[in-house]
Amino acid sequence: MKTIGMLGGMSWESTAEYYRLANELVSVRMGGFHSARVLLDSVDFADIEAFQSSGQWDEAGELLASRARALEYAGADMLVLCTNTMHAVIGVIENAVTIPVLHIAAAAGASIQRAGLSHVGLLGTSFTMEQDFYRDRLATFGIDVTVPEASARQIVHRVIYDELVHGIVRQESREEYRAIIAQLVDQGAQGIILGCTEIELLVRAEDSSVPVFPTTRLHVEAAVDLALSVE
Ligand code: GLU
Repeated sequence: MKTIGMLGGMSWESTAEYYRLANELVSVRMGGFHSARVLLDSVDFADIEAFQSSGQWDEAGELLASRARALEYAGADMLVLCTNTMHAVIGVIENAVTIPVLHIAAAAGASIQRAGLSHVGLLGTSFTMEQDFYRDRLATFGIDVTVPEASARQIVHRVIYDELVHGIVRQESREEYRAIIAQLVDQGAQGIILGCTEIELLVRAEDSSVPVFPTTRLHVEAAVDLALSVE
């Protein structure tokens, strides 16, 4: 079994899910006492949040690239960056290591393609919903993306930073997300990408009338597939 390198802490609430899901999947697939081989490097999210809010993406990229190099040096066979938003700087990270870097939007795109869908709604931080890096990656899978209108984007973003990254899960916020998902479906979305690794803590399949694509789970599945693959 190969070792999964997890670059997490963005936030640790969802990184804990990465760790749990990887172990659960390996246990299901291999049985017995098997569990995932994982190396985890967890950053201080305050550093990352400060870079995000001041637009210092180059600095954030350098910090994450140095942690990615440390994971490779420690023996990771692959890397997963445990956040959608920071895939804005995935190119810097890819250039810093020689091991495969599994892109979270590629994991989502492959799953959407398997489901036979070509138009989805995207929920995530304002960076993920408004910058090009995420939709561009999905476009390589032939997938079109619709994001919520401006005031709804603000709600989605606020709930992530004020609640979910602090481990706060509120029914009122779930209702707000349900209403925003319904609006996206009205606009033609055939599926909904839960494009922030904490959203799975709040939203489940039953909160949507169309299929949801939970990026944390899909990203971990891609990593476990590679970890258990035979070359
Ligand atoms: N974990 C989140 C994401 O998947 C948001 C936190 C961050 O900014 O990294 O985008």
